[in-house]
Amino acid sequence: MHASTPTLRLILGDQLNANHSWFASVEAHVLYLIAELPQEASYVTHHVQKVQAFFLAMAHFGQVLSDRGHRVCHLTLDQTVQFDDLEALVKQVMTEHRLDRFEYQRPDEYRLRVQLRAMSEALGCPSDGVETEHFLLSEAEVEALFADGKSRRMEQFYRSMRKKTGILMSGGQPVGDRWNFDQENRKKLPKSWSPPVPLLFENDTQKVDERLARHRIQTWGVAQAQLVWPVTLAQAEALVQDFVARLLPLFGRYQDAMTDRDWALYHARISFALNCKMVTPQWLIGEVLKAYEQDPVTYELASVEGFIRQVMGWREYVRGIYLSQMPEYGQTNALANDRPLPAFYWTGETKMRCVAQVVEQTRAYAYAHHIQRLMVTGNLALLLGVAPDAVDEWYLSVFIDAIEWVEMPNTRGMSQYADGGFLASKPYVSSGKYIQRMSDYCQGCTYNIDERSSEDACPFNSLYWAFLHRHQSTLGNNQRMAMMYSNLKRIPTVELTDILNRADAVRRDPDTF
Ligand code: FAD
Ligand code: SF4
Repeated sequence: MHASTPTLRLILGDQLNANHSWFASVEAHVLYLIAELPQEASYVTHHVQKVQAFFLAMAHFGQVLSDRGHRVCHLTLDQTVQFDDLEALVKQVMTEHRLDRFEYQRPDEYRLRVQLRAMSEALGCPSDGVETEHFLLSEAEVEALFADGKSRRMEQFYRSMRKKTGILMSGGQPVGDRWNFDQENRKKLPKSWSPPVPLLFENDTQKVDERLARHRIQTWGVAQAQLVWPVTLAQAEALVQDFVARLLPLFGRYQDAMTDRDWALYHARISFALNCKMVTPQWLIGEVLKAYEQDPVTYELASVEGFIRQVMGWREYVRGIYLSQMPEYGQTNALANDRPLPAFYWTGETKMRCVAQVVEQTRAYAYAHHIQRLMVTGNLALLLGVAPDAVDEWYLSVFIDAIEWVEMPNTRGMSQYADGGFLASKPYVSSGKYIQRMSDYCQGCTYNIDERSSEDACPFNSLYWAFLHRHQSTLGNNQRMAMMYSNLKRIPTVELTDILNRADAVRRDPDTF
């Protein structure tokens, strides 16, 4: 009966999957709604480039569907601000267009999933939620894998994905006889290195900017003259093809390296296009494999495997954690951290050069790569004992790719150990020595990387030992931290007292450092 019922289908900003089965044929009784929503533009203070990118990508997607003959209602903030909420908007569109049925793609984000479920009931008409058809694992497969609620490690999950898909497998064994090439993938950039020129787009944001100003949408960060991020399928595909041709060969080797000479390095910068579902992980992995199969000399296995692990392993794994653990996951705070986030996370005004560089780059491009997020800003927040809610809010705000299902497990779980080890087997903490090893930040810094308690000692150093000391009863028995704790024991008592005093001073007033 509902085959020809006049139907409204809602498409959210991160559901821009042109290959979805919804669009397989043109159906005259269906109207697609794509709407810039005040609630989505302001549930946190987003980076301005993130809002620009979403709004432009949504408008382009609406145009693509129209060009293919679908009926599309694309509404901008100008038309949606008058509605109290999404439900009121949907009701109005359904009444205006005489639609009797409501359909949506189930959101990845818990907040929206709950909202749309409740809204469907409140509308009082037939309704249905369908899959987004984007991920490598269907929702049912995720549920089956993660249903026991037990913690499982990424490596175990990743191997099961390799076996299931047959990707980089040969005769039931991993190609190259190893699952993981991390050892090869931890190089610092050579001194003589010059950055590859990143492929940047020139998307006009003027109309979006005017709307943001007109409706007083608060944002953070710098708007570039033109938006450099991909907002069409053609741009997203060009970015991937450029990445594969020029950057992938060195991706693995330098994926953990950090420098103040460049912000993009050998990273794909594809997370925005992936997370709003313009491109699929299947296609992305396919492009990488194609290059490897054609030229295994240029495309070393260490790089290819390293990249595929991020997309097929980490990305699908954190989704499984999020879908199976929410909403409780959002309340976790295993280390009872309660400090406020220092103001320099927003202003970049700190003498700690590594932090200033990462915040500045993030303000300029809404981007920092994984190790900058994990081992600079994340590491520092954990060492200071910042409340996970505040850390989550920052990560959700400032990055182009930040959507809660992927942001939260990475932030609360991997970076802040707030889940008590559900995701990571130990907290990702380090002294400044790790940052020195992987970057050139320390060279021009006010602080001395070799000192740990003096007036000019690198703050990461004292904070690191104080963190271990403070959490000894919780973490001291963790086998993976045995070496760290045995090093802590070796510090003479008098020196340890100085280190703890120095760390107290930093934690008391981090904004003065
Ligand atoms: P590349 O380094 O080129 O990697 C390729 C792709 O692999 C990425 O586009 C991404 O889709 C995937 N990937 C890599 N690592 C991860 C990971 N740990 N989890 C999920 N996918 C991964 N990623 C987001 O997409 N959104 C977030 O909000 C987000 N928040 C993060 C917060 C913290 C504290 C940390 C430590 C990491 C976070 N990440 C997040 C993961 C990772 O940092 C980004 O996916 C990556 O930096 C995006 O840049 P890229 O496309 O150049 O990635
Ligand atoms: Fe960062 Fe410490 Fe190095 Fe300065 S010395 S850049 S604060 S790690």
